[in-house]
Amino acid sequence: MTVSISNTLGGQREPFAPLDGTHVKMYVCGMTPKREPHIGHARLFVAMDMIRRYLTYCGYEVEHVQNITDVDDKIIAAAEREGITADAVAQKYTDAYDAVMGRLNVLRAHVFPKVTETLPQIIAMIEGLIEREAAYVAEEAVYFSVPGFAAYGALSTRSEDSGIQAGASGRVDDEPGKRDPRDFALWKPAKPGEPWWSSPWGQGRPGWHIECSTMIYETLGARIDIHGGGADLIFPHHENEIAQSEAYTGEQPFAKYWLHTGLLTIDGQKMAHSLGNFITIEDILESYSGPVLRLYLLSVHYRSPLTYTPESLEQARAGMARLTGALRAQAGGAGSADEQLTQAAQRAEAGFFDAMNSDFNSAGALGQLYELVRDINRLSADAQPAALESAQGTLVSLADVLGIDLQEVLEAELAGGDGDASGFIDLLVELRADLRKEKQFALADKVRDELAALGILLEDSPSGTEWRRKA
Ligand SMILES: [Zn+2]
Repeated sequence: MTVSISNTLGGQREPFAPLDGTHVKMYVCGMTPKREPHIGHARLFVAMDMIRRYLTYCGYEVEHVQNITDVDDKIIAAAEREGITADAVAQKYTDAYDAVMGRLNVLRAHVFPKVTETLPQIIAMIEGLIEREAAYVAEEAVYFSVPGFAAYGALSTRSEDSGIQAGASGRVDDEPGKRDPRDFALWKPAKPGEPWWSSPWGQGRPGWHIECSTMIYETLGARIDIHGGGADLIFPHHENEIAQSEAYTGEQPFAKYWLHTGLLTIDGQKMAHSLGNFITIEDILESYSGPVLRLYLLSVHYRSPLTYTPESLEQARAGMARLTGALRAQAGGAGSADEQLTQAAQRAEAGFFDAMNSDFNSAGALGQLYELVRDINRLSADAQPAALESAQGTLVSLADVLGIDLQEVLEAELAGGDGDASGFIDLLVELRADLRKEKQFALADKVRDELAALGILLEDSPSGTEWRRKA
């Protein structure tokens, strides 16, 4: 079973081969806990979780590190806005992250390094870069010297000119002593009222990029297998991480595979706290269960852009109802469909792994699950219990590889917990109405009776049929 990965570095599809046997070092750029996480964040972390789970399923031992950027201009701004300390802001939104990721069934990283706990190491790395003449001190700031790093731009494939345009963080004269517009700060002096730490260059705080390079070096070493993050981080953040890390260790490539998730857009724009167009994960989870939101996020390949619409969440809800609906199917036959059902399950399984091995194509993998659902629904009436249960078992175990526990969702539906069966029940009620129109009363009654057995009562009236759960 060979997994192939699309690598942002080089832009090619490559067979996955970790640096060290079956041990996989994976780093994901994590949250800046400045506000409630929104569904763009959910997309990134669910995608990385799906990848980690799949590699683990394939027999790799994944070591997952994800940083928490708990020092940031926006955290400081939030502290002022909310009238609490920056530490309290970071803690509050880190807790918010933990809570929603738990509901999305995202496994916790093995290590969550924090900037505030890594300051001595960050300062040491900056000192090392100055010693190697990859960085220089200007007044109370320290800058990385981009012209001194020949491979700069390899990840984002930017030309020097466009790099200057997009990467320059202000004019050179705003930052006294900065030699090249592309140079970026490793250390900057603290403004009055801001949190600061002592350093050889005065009181200040680290730049964002050096934090990740240091935390990776400290937790995983000089080279890692997988570096993940949102596509909006490719430039300048990840480009700068490469420059710092490779200049510091002299080893390259610093990260073998760069995996970037496509942006989640809303109304044609990137969803972002800064644009104010964000929908929090918590908001969504008021109307949809964690598994439904996870299903929605996995329904598009992780590298593709994902356009958020309320309708697509409804589709995910209906999709989940179809998946669990197939688990409720009853075997009704003498076994004439057993063979076909067994083959359908094998086909779905093979297709599922083909899709997943092809750059973690969860969308294609889900397509195979829906195929199997169709086959189960079509064939169960002519199957014996053992054949049906085996096909249903395949469905459950494949969904489980994606971090979706269908058994648990089904139990919640049966308990009337989260209303996820609604779409499914609506569909059956509609089907029954069609059957009655066709004068297939025996089948229509069967639908009503089976629903009643599951605790769903139908009430016919001149205006149509309503359903309710038995109290
Ligand atoms: Zn980072």
